Amino acid sequence: MVMPVSPSHALMPITPRPSFIPVRGEGSYLFAADGAKCLDFIQGWAVNALGHAAPEVTAAIARQAGQLLTASPALFNYPALELAERLVALTGLNHITFCSSGAEANEAALKLCRKWGARHRAGAFEVLSTDNSFHGRTLATMALSGKSGWDVMFPPQPPGFRKVPFDDVEAMRRAITPSTVALCVEPIQGEAGVVVPKPGYLKALRALCDEAGLLFVLDEVQTGFGRTGSMFAFEAAGVVPDILTLGKGLGGGVPLSAVVTHSRAGYFNVGEQGGTFHGNPLACSAAMATLDVLTAPGFLEAAQESGQYLAAGLQRLALKHGGSWRGQGLLQALILPAPRAPEIVSECLLRGLLLNAARPHILRLMPSLRVTHEELEIGLNCLDSVLTEQLARARAS
Ligand SMILES: *Cc1c(COP(=O)(O)O)cnc(C)c1O
Repeated sequence: MVMPVSPSHALMPITPRPSFIPVRGEGSYLFAADGAKCLDFIQGWAVNALGHAAPEVTAAIARQAGQLLTASPALFNYPALELAERLVALTGLNHITFCSSGAEANEAALKLCRKWGARHRAGAFEVLSTDNSFHGRTLATMALSGKSGWDVMFPPQPPGFRKVPFDDVEAMRRAITPSTVALCVEPIQGEAGVVVPKPGYLKALRALCDEAGLLFVLDEVQTGFGRTGSMFAFEAAGVVPDILTLGKGLGGGVPLSAVVTHSRAGYFNVGEQGGTFHGNPLACSAAMATLDVLTAPGFLEAAQESGQYLAAGLQRLALKHGGSWRGQGLLQALILPAPRAPEIVSECLLRGLLLNAARPHILRLMPSLRVTHEELEIGLNCLDSVLTEQLARARAS
């Protein structure tokens, strides 16, 4: 299944990478040059909402590439104008600006928080976020993130960030000081291993923000665009954020992100924000083709149903092998009874299934929103046999 390659000496070793090198993708599958195929339950880390080489997205990209890739971020372009209108309508918020990555969108959100704090909270600029959260890899978004070890990497850390335990409203309440300007959370912690808060958590944080006069920032870079069953996780939670960040699935595979604000949180004025590639026509066209599919009648309901099917399968595996399951929509995790996730991921890849080890004892699954029951069944069966072997090995050692 795996093509042997010599390690590259030019690419920095930023992450351990397997020797499987995909050269082509189609729907839920990736193919290597030798024809080896792999069922992809990562999809670029929840990026390819519609799977690989979705015909609608491919056609839109080809069409736009033949017309206009990038003119200038200082000129309007029709795809960005139209996408902005559509996203504002879809989110129920008021203002939007585009960026190219999730980290940049969160960085922009932080700038807006500081701007608002300077105006409305006597210069307060501290943002409260949660332990184990993930918001990106720029210096400020690393400081916003609650990943262990990141607080001491690349010192000094930018000031103005404090963490509290996730899914703990009282801890958040206690952490608020006159220096606090905003609370920022993921509706479901993705990178931490699909940590789903108790029902009512986001509503309670929203109420806390209203009570204390703070901005409520939701990072939906991973949970947005149907990933958790609804278009956005905040809709299912029954809350409206002041600032919303989007990315990953938005571009349907192309780099695109956005920060969307409610009027009360304000917006950027001339000179405060920008980026060479921000809102380029190519990325915006890919996003609109993706949105056309996501908003078609019945599409999200079908994706949600696939999520329930996957959840039922993972529950069966948890019952059989020990451990547990959690998740929402097509963002799911299997919690293992032993810390064998990296070994299980390697063995699954050898057998043609791509999974993510979010933590040593957590497997994360983010299939295409178009994944079929048959594909889910193939993946679950493969995982089942690998779990049998690997957990027996863990017990023996
Ligand atoms: C992936 C992710 C980010 C960062 O997005 P990049 O495009 O990698 O910069 C931020 N927040 C969340 C919740 C994410 O899952």
